[in-house]
Amino acid sequence: MSKQQFQTEVDQLLHLIVHSLYSHPEIFLRELISNSSDALDKLRYLTLTEEKYKALVGSGIESPRIDLALDEEHKTLTISDTGIGMNEEDLISHLGTIARSGTKNFLANLSGDARKDSNLIGQFGVGFYSVFMVASKVEVTTRKAGEEKTFKWTSDGKTGFEIEEVSGAEARTSAGTSVLIHFNDEGAQYANSWRLQEIVKKYSNHIAFPIFLTYDKSEWNAEKKESTKTRVTEQINAASAMWQRPKSELKEEDYKEFYKAITGDWEDPLFWFHTRAEGTLEYTTLFYIPAKAPLDLYQADYKGGIKLYVKRVFIMDDSRELLPQYLRFVRGVIDSEDLPLNVSREILQQNKVLTSIRTASVKKILSELKAVSSSDPEKYLKFIEEYNRPLKEGLYSDYANRELLLDLIRFKSTKVDGFTSLADAKARIKPEQKALYYITGGSDSVLRSSPLLEIYKKKDIEVLILDDDIDEVVFSSVGKYGDLELKAVNKSSTSEDLKDEDAPQKAEELKPLLEKISAALGDAVKEVRPSSRLADSPSVIVSDEDEPSARMRHMMEAMGQKGMPELKPVLEINPDHEIIKKLLADPGADKVQDAAWLLFDQALLLEGVPLKDPVSFVQRLNRVLNQAM
Ligand code: ADP
Ligand code: MG
Repeated sequence: MSKQQFQTEVDQLLHLIVHSLYSHPEIFLRELISNSSDALDKLRYLTLTEEKYKALVGSGIESPRIDLALDEEHKTLTISDTGIGMNEEDLISHLGTIARSGTKNFLANLSGDARKDSNLIGQFGVGFYSVFMVASKVEVTTRKAGEEKTFKWTSDGKTGFEIEEVSGAEARTSAGTSVLIHFNDEGAQYANSWRLQEIVKKYSNHIAFPIFLTYDKSEWNAEKKESTKTRVTEQINAASAMWQRPKSELKEEDYKEFYKAITGDWEDPLFWFHTRAEGTLEYTTLFYIPAKAPLDLYQADYKGGIKLYVKRVFIMDDSRELLPQYLRFVRGVIDSEDLPLNVSREILQQNKVLTSIRTASVKKILSELKAVSSSDPEKYLKFIEEYNRPLKEGLYSDYANRELLLDLIRFKSTKVDGFTSLADAKARIKPEQKALYYITGGSDSVLRSSPLLEIYKKKDIEVLILDDDIDEVVFSSVGKYGDLELKAVNKSSTSEDLKDEDAPQKAEELKPLLEKISAALGDAVKEVRPSSRLADSPSVIVSDEDEPSARMRHMMEAMGQKGMPELKPVLEINPDHEIIKKLLADPGADKVQDAAWLLFDQALLLEGVPLKDPVSFVQRLNRVLNQAM
């Protein structure tokens, strides 16, 4: 047999696990048991759906179980399962390389700070390799279902691994995998039957398969008046499909433990929603909201977090069809009584049963969240801190639930610290107010100091601060909250609420100046208008009602968007501003030329749009400064 090297990423990960992430070495057991459970799920599914595997049941495939065999004296533990097993190629690709995108993410997100990183590990599980926290050597003996050969993979977790075919007593007579751990000094504490039982109870109680522990039990022998050791095998987990048990029987701890077992997360979930539906369709759902958003939340190749079961048989996980994309952070289980066992991913999309379950599940999750938002606002805020943005995506994609989503999303605002709901903002407005206002297009601090807000401040009208990058796109399509209009303050149409009695007269006076400014700027602007939305600034950029803002356009161009229609901004001028009044009084041609561009460029800068010609800007600025000195 020849030695093979780990893929570099594996090396990196192993080093990290062994040298810096010692906080919870006991999770090695949870990881190995969860691998066994996955392997049993896969095989059970095949034996239910494929003739070839059905025929092997009883000869080559044994009934599903997980066995822990402890040798206290030699400090070894074997974790065996009767699952799908692995052949030689599987061993190389699954245990010698990092195939999982979750693990790659993990590596990409490492901070170098051991404490933070071990939290990350907790959140995502590092899987099989965690065994090297406690092992000096690991031997994996395995036979793939439907195949004859048994292979043994051996590694010390440092110098690569070896694979050999084994025969005779070492060969397996049926499909499955045994992982033999030789504990190192750190791991020796786990060569203890009490400890093992405690860990299994804690992390793996609700694994759907029975877990047995074989160990030397000390018993008092009354006749001989001494304690003797007997080798016994006992089942040590509940082995029930936890979500099928009635709510009344389940304790908070059961829910938390099950969550941790299926996600590998350390932290307790924020909330969970457990529902049994009876009627035309029968199904059970158990949904969890993780305390921290999954690392891949904003990645195109994110994994779905819902496991699909049919009559308690595991069918698939990480399918993206089970919930809409914007709820991709939800974890949990859907178990249907009505789906056929052999549903494929392709069928899932058009399956009527699943579509109904999905629709009902979304409603359920959203309405439960709404209930939490009023019953436990503090906890709900934690939810918002992690998931406000995906909910906004829902506004865009889930039209049917728009009302509910608008109630769930939270907003920053000029009138409150932290977050507010639309309902609260609505409750605060003046009776005569016609619309709810919001501003988009920049960071929190840029937005709060925008000249566009001046008039609202002056008139004491609240404006919602929408500083997420998707806000402009999402909210421009919303239009209304109940009977109230939702209006962007940077759109050109002036609102009823801002009406200025003197506006027509001021506009008339300003007209000749505006014509000159317009001539000076030429093609750069669509129009120059008098403004009634400014207090302290002389000018501001606005967009036409149905057009993306100047900043939005700049962002889209920066992201490589080609062929954007050349949309020109509208420049608004504040008739009440000192500068404008002076210009009106003395509109010399050179002066207006410089002033027009300075008014335009400063408005662009405040919108967060870089200037096309900064050199001319500086030259003008210096000319004007020079005259002022
Ligand atoms: P994950 O379980 O998230 O895929 P792991 O590092 O825990 O990652 O395991 C890597 C892979 O090794 C698994 O996906 C599986 O293909 C294989 N594997 C691990 N343990 C077993 C087992 N007991 N039986 C069959 N395959 C296994
Ligand atoms: Mg695993």
